[in-house]
Parts: sequence; structure tokens; C-alpha cells
Amino acid sequence: MTIKNLKEKVLHGYSICKEEAEWLAAQPDKEALYEAAHEITQALASEEFDMCSIINAKSGRCPENCKWCAQSSHYKTKAEVYDLVDKEECLRHAKYNEEQGVARFSLVTSGRKPSGKNMERLCEAARYMRKHSSIQLCASLGLLNEEEMRALHNSGITRYHCNLETAPSYFPTLCSTHTQEEKLRTLQAARNVGMDICSGGIIGMGESMEQRIEFAFTLKGINVQSIPINLLSPIPGTPLEQQAPLTEEEILTTIALFRFINPTAFLRFAGGRSQLSKEAVKMALHIGINSAIVGDLLTTLGSKVSEDKELIEDAGYKFADSQFDREHLWHPYTSTTNPLPVYKVKQAEGATITLESGQTLVEGMSSWWCAVHGYNNPVLNNAAEEQLRRMSHVMFGGLTHDPAIELGKLLLPLVPPSMQKIFYADSGSVAVEVAMKMAVQYWYAKSLSSPAQASLEKKSNFVTIRKGYHGDTWNAMSVCDPVTGMHSLFGSALPIRYFAPRPNSRFGGEWDAQDAMNLLDIVEEHHEELAALILEPVVQGAGGMWFYHPQYLREAARICKEYNMLLIFDEIATGFGRTGKLFAWEHAGVEPDIMCIGKALTGGYMTLSAVLATNEVADTISNQTPGAFMHGPTFMGNPLACAVACASVKLLTSPEYDWKGKVSKIEAQLEKELAPARDLPIVKEVRILGAIGVIELLENVDMAWMQRRFVEEGIWLRPFGKLVYIMPPFIVEPEQLTKLTRGVIKIVREMGFL
Ligand code: PMP
Repeated sequence: MTIKNLKEKVLHGYSICKEEAEWLAAQPDKEALYEAAHEITQALASEEFDMCSIINAKSGRCPENCKWCAQSSHYKTKAEVYDLVDKEECLRHAKYNEEQGVARFSLVTSGRKPSGKNMERLCEAARYMRKHSSIQLCASLGLLNEEEMRALHNSGITRYHCNLETAPSYFPTLCSTHTQEEKLRTLQAARNVGMDICSGGIIGMGESMEQRIEFAFTLKGINVQSIPINLLSPIPGTPLEQQAPLTEEEILTTIALFRFINPTAFLRFAGGRSQLSKEAVKMALHIGINSAIVGDLLTTLGSKVSEDKELIEDAGYKFADSQFDREHLWHPYTSTTNPLPVYKVKQAEGATITLESGQTLVEGMSSWWCAVHGYNNPVLNNAAEEQLRRMSHVMFGGLTHDPAIELGKLLLPLVPPSMQKIFYADSGSVAVEVAMKMAVQYWYAKSLSSPAQASLEKKSNFVTIRKGYHGDTWNAMSVCDPVTGMHSLFGSALPIRYFAPRPNSRFGGEWDAQDAMNLLDIVEEHHEELAALILEPVVQGAGGMWFYHPQYLREAARICKEYNMLLIFDEIATGFGRTGKLFAWEHAGVEPDIMCIGKALTGGYMTLSAVLATNEVADTISNQTPGAFMHGPTFMGNPLACAVACASVKLLTSPEYDWKGKVSKIEAQLEKELAPARDLPIVKEVRILGAIGVIELLENVDMAWMQRRFVEEGIWLRPFGKLVYIMPPFIVEPEQLTKLTRGVIKIVREMGFL
């Protein structure tokens, strides 16, 4: 056993055991122990320092007999005695701390638990603070049940604090009026209602080093991520008044061991730290203290926030607000109670994303297909800045402007010639909604055009193909794959659509006529109620990253014509060069009646989409009652977005940019460099088309693990289900793409060994 071995063990994600921790504590080479703990802190714990503060909202007269405590009514101490302070006082403290950059603020009360009336007042104070400040709220109010926790949580308190205080083997000698089990139940109640927990204790109360280790393992056992560490301040009048203080070496050794045992937790300096010399405080920060209770209004701490901040920054930490994100921001497809980690981005440039930590990642996702030119492009920046000086937005009802007109002029020559009318919309999903509404309103208008056609009004449903994805709004969702989409969840609330099997004929493979027969079967049976067929041409994106035979589009167009149905192409993901053609319909030469574009339309700068339609569709709708297409979003044709879209389309299509050359180089490199992945036992298939490289695995990925490993490799990718894929910005450099392909293969291989 060596300190280095044990450190490596922790760094590789394993836990050390009790015996190993005791061995570490006994090592005479303290410097080596401290340095090892420091390395663990640097690698695994947050480098963002978390400062919190508290208010003693009620003090003294506690019926419990904790031997260390000045507030216990069992002992005669000089502690202040006062009843619950009012909400104004709480807010004053909260705001003072917030102004100093303190992230969290806790309401702390003495006593076993507050009375019912006081609970109500505390909830009211929390609501009041939530309303007038944005500091994160915690509470430490004693032993509460789930109902009480829920009331706190609903009032805006997101974290509950309850110290276990010391090792389970030692606690009963210090307190007989309650047990650690009651504390554990309290913490569990907080967790059950969705609160984070905070729990630590006091060292130097006469416990042995073995007991401190036992305590650290108890905290690990409940997976607490915020661990306050107090150093006992012996209070005259309490049974521990004569307790001899720990040496600085004992304290620092304890901190090092807490870090070995709880490698990712926030180890929080709390009370008693003013006993330490400045050097010892610095060393504690170096070893593993990465959070603290601070506060100018807490005279017992004996330190000023500004001084604490200096020490903290000297120790190399930054100040955190990731906790706010965790507690209040809802990310795509994410839980609020158990969110996947998110990485904070400081800046993005070209094909790279720089994280707050300073780490730079090569971008392999183009931010979900949109950032084709990479980030911070001077041409697009300029377009946005210039337009901003004129106007960022005006309504499109009754007004028009150059950016919208110019963008239309740029788009028409690029899309199928039959597309003559342009309806600007806000996002991809909204474009799909608009397209579906157009199809329904088209057949409605047709039905009005002559009595013989009245039955066409029934044509208001849709057919699509399985494994598709069209967005998350109501109708868009209804045509997503019924299994992998959200059909089972939203069930009968969703309109019921018809689903043809996904075409099995692969892009570049043999055409199997059965694929068209499958579609025909459904259309033959239901065409009288079908307004349109909607699909993603050639590449199915978020529903399965599947590339199918262009012949399917030709057959689909024929079937639609024969059975009086419109054909809608969703080119939101495939548009603007991604598949090797400017738009994917070109692979088949088939023109739709309606087409949706979005994502890369603005080069990924802002949200904008467009629905394109034939004159036949647009004019039929317009020539019947109500004489207008019934849709009109607030941000329709947003000038800022249109101006950037103009710049992006011009850049993409300029001869010097040579998007085609760029995409085919990416395609060739992906082919070559992802080929070795085909030999990995965990890989089912590798497929490449244009600037899209897909590795389909035999098992689902563990997203949190894989994302973390990718970030450690310096690449940004977001796999889903069994699919790991690369679709870089077109401006990616060959070396950057190699970093992506090497990283992917390395991590996929690692996954096979897990
Ligand atoms: N259609 C397709 C083919 C898409 O890939 C997406 C987005 N992934 C959408 C529609 C929805 O676009 P948005 O997320 O902008 O609403």
C-alpha cells in the first residue's frame, strides 16, 4: 500500500476501505497525504467554490442536551436567547449576503423543531426572500417530517441541513435526547420531497481518528454532497468546555481523509476555523475544502467575506453558480430532482466550445445540427450587429422589411422550383405544426371549391414513417415514432396518426419494393382521411439516425399523387448541406408540396424556421373562406434572425466557402477514421452520409458516464439510446475531426469493458 496507489484508486472511481483510510491517517509523511488529497480535489471535486451563509433565526432555549452546544437549556451558557426573527430581518441578511456573491442562505433555528405557527412564519419568510432576492435558500430547523419538508420546499427552500455531528459509535455519548436515526429520517424526508441535503458535523469533541473515519464513511453512505466541517469551540458552561483542541495536523489529516472518502463532495468550512493559523487555513483549502459558511453578520466566524474570498481565490478556486442552474433551470429531457450534469460554457469559437473550467472541447454536434459554420463567425456577427442597430424586431402583420425579403430571394433558388411561397416561423417544431395546418386547411379549402369535392374535408389526418422525429409540440409529437417518441406518455391526448414501417432499403444499398408496398397498404386503406404524408427525406435524425434509399421518396411522391395526398418534407435537420446535397430531396429529385427548414438556416445563431409551399397549396388555401392561412406568430419573420440567416446562406453558398468540398472531405475522413469501430464487439453498425457519422451500439449508453468521458477526452458529443454520432460544423479542421473520431472510438471501446 502506498499513498500514491490509494490516490490512483480514488481517481479511477473506486472507494478506499476503512482499513486503508486508517492506514493513510497513520502515515508520517503528511505532505504526501495532503498533496494526494489535493490531486483528488482537483480532479473530482468542484473547482467552483460554494459560499453559503446563515441567519440564526431563533436562538437558545433548546430542550435537547447536545454536549457541545451553547443553545441547550440543559447548560448555563452566555448564548443569546431570542424568538423567531421576522421576515424583514431574514431578507436583510439574505440581501446583504447576496450582494457579496454568496450563493446560498440558510434559515437556522434552535430547538428540536419549530412549532406549527413558527413553521408557517418560516415558510412565509422563505417566500418573502424568494420574491425579493435570488439567493438560494436552505433551512436547518431540526427534526422534520415529510409534510413539513414539503411545505418548506414549496416555499422555495431547495436544500435541507441536518448534521449527523459525529460517528454513529460516538453520538450516544454526546446526546441522549435524540438519535442519529432520527436525523437520518429527517434527511431522507428532505430527499423524498426533492430537496438536496447538507450534513456534516463537528470534529474535536473527544472522538478518535478512527471515529472520524467512521463518520466520513457514514456520510459517504448517504451520498451527501455538502459536508460542513466544524472545529469544536469549547463553550464555557457546556460539558465539553475543557475539551483540548485538536492540533492543526490532526485537523488537516481529517480533511484529507474526508476528501479521500468523499471525493466529489463539497467539504465546507464551518464554525471554529478562526482557531486555525492563516497557513493552516490555506493548507485546508489546498487539501480539499471547497466550500464554506461565510458572513460578515456572523460574528462567531471571526472572518470577513472579502478576506475569505481572497484566500479562496489564492487557493485557485472560482465562485459557483452552477447550483442555481441545478436547482432552477430545466434542461432538455431532464429531471429536476435528479438532473444529469451540465457543463457551463464560457465561450465558443470556430469548432470549439470552451467551458467555464477553461477546458476546450472540439464540437461534434454542431449544437444539434445548426451551427454549420461553427461559433463566433465574424460574418454572422457583423450581420447581427448591423441589423441590431436598425431594429431587432417589428411585427410581420401589416409590416415587412429587407431582411425577410432578402432571405426569401436567397432561399427560392436553393429549394425545389415548385416551392414558391414562404411562411417564416419560430422553430422547427412550429414549422412542422404550420406545415400540418397548411395541409389540413388545403383540403378544407378544396372541399369548399365545389359540391362534388365536399368529402375532401375529411382529409385531415396524416401518415408518416416509423423512427421519425419532427419536434416536441403537439402535432409534431404525434408524427414522431410511436415507440421511441412520447406517444405512450401522452397517450390518448395525442391525435392518432398512421405509421408505415421505416424503409429498410438503405441509402447506397439495393432498393426493396416491399418498402413502398408497406406505405401503399396503409394509404389504400385510409387515403380518404389522409391530408398528407410527412417524412424526413433520406436521413431520419433524432428518431434513429437512419439513412434510407432515395427511391422511397419517388415511390412516396407517386403514391401521394395517386391518392390525393400532399407530400411534406421535413428538411429541418437535413437542410443546408448536411447530407452531401444542399437539401436531401435532391438525392431523389422529388419535389414536395410543402417543405420545412430550420436549424442551420441562421447558421445556428438564433431560432428561425420557414415553411415553403407550392402556389397550388398557398393559393387554394387563400381562395376559399376564411381567405387566409390561419397562423401568425408574434416573432414571425424576426428581422434579426432573417438578417443573420441571409448572411449564413450567402456564406454557405459562396464559391470560396465550398460547402460541398468541406462536407465531402468530412465524409471521407469519417469513413476512414470510424472504420475501426466496426470491429468492436459492442458496435452493431457504423454508417456515414455527408457530414454525419453514426455508430450504432448493441446496448444503450449511460449518458452521464459517456458525456463525462467525452468531456475528459476534450470532445463534445451527446449520444442517445444506442446511438453515438458525430456531425461537426463544416469548418472543422482535419485534426479536430480526428480528435473526435479517436475520442469516440476510445470511449465506445471503454464502454465495452465496463
Ligand atoms: N424536425 C426535425 C427533422 C428535427 O430534427 C427537429 C429537431 N431536432 C425538429 C423538427 C424540431 O425542431 P425544433 O427543435 O427547432 O423545434
